[in-house]
Amino acid sequence: MNSIGVFGGTFDPIHYGHLRTAFELLQALRFDEVRFMPCGDPPHRGQTFADAELRLQMVQVATAGQAGFVVDDRELKRQGPSYSVDTLSTLRADYPERPLGLIVGMDAFLGLTRWRQWREILELAHVVVAHRPGWRAPDMGPLGELLTERGTHRINDLHESLAGKIVIHDVTQLEISSTDIRDLVAGGRDPRFLTPNAVREVINQSGCYAGTDKPRK
Ligand code: ATP
Repeated sequence: MNSIGVFGGTFDPIHYGHLRTAFELLQALRFDEVRFMPCGDPPHRGQTFADAELRLQMVQVATAGQAGFVVDDRELKRQGPSYSVDTLSTLRADYPERPLGLIVGMDAFLGLTRWRQWREILELAHVVVAHRPGWRAPDMGPLGELLTERGTHRINDLHESLAGKIVIHDVTQLEISSTDIRDLVAGGRDPRFLTPNAVREVINQSGCYAGTDKPRK
């Protein structure tokens, strides 16, 4: 049914942890496409380091040429904080008949109940949890209950309905984070092999992380 994987993040900067995760989920969960959606003003975190335009540019150069990878800048065009529920509502309006799978890392999933209208999110999309190094799936509390109620291992469940299921899927564990890359660059070192060369070029040319230890817009 032409399912869409929705991969949101600050991507400050995008790195191979993101790209490999998206690629493995694209293939394993048989998404028609994975849509990278850099967020404008992340509600759960402080300001970003690179500005929105640069983060978008880094996502574009990192994903260029990969079949099934799509970049969607709708969150950057919207004013105010980027809430997943609002983004998914606009995607649902654009694609009323395509299943949506919101891709989140396990770290992000563990905070799901603090997201705005989080129950509504499951009315709009499935949730696909990518296992990340060092994180365990919840087995109690509201998320444990939610997993009992909505968790599935059947990949077809993601394609046979538009929303409402939760799949936890193992991906190759790459212990890379945007924070580490920013710190490397700020310390004058090279993030080679952690992120594509095209992203390194944007970082080098813009100087967006050089000497930064405080967020800026
Ligand atoms: P930061 O270090 O700034 O917190 P990050 O590396 O976690 O950034 P985000 O842009 O915040 O990157 O992540 C977007 C999504 O990608 C989140 O759902 C996050 O869990 C997931 N993610 C980030 N890094 C990895 C990784 N190495 N492997 C798998 N998923 C990841």
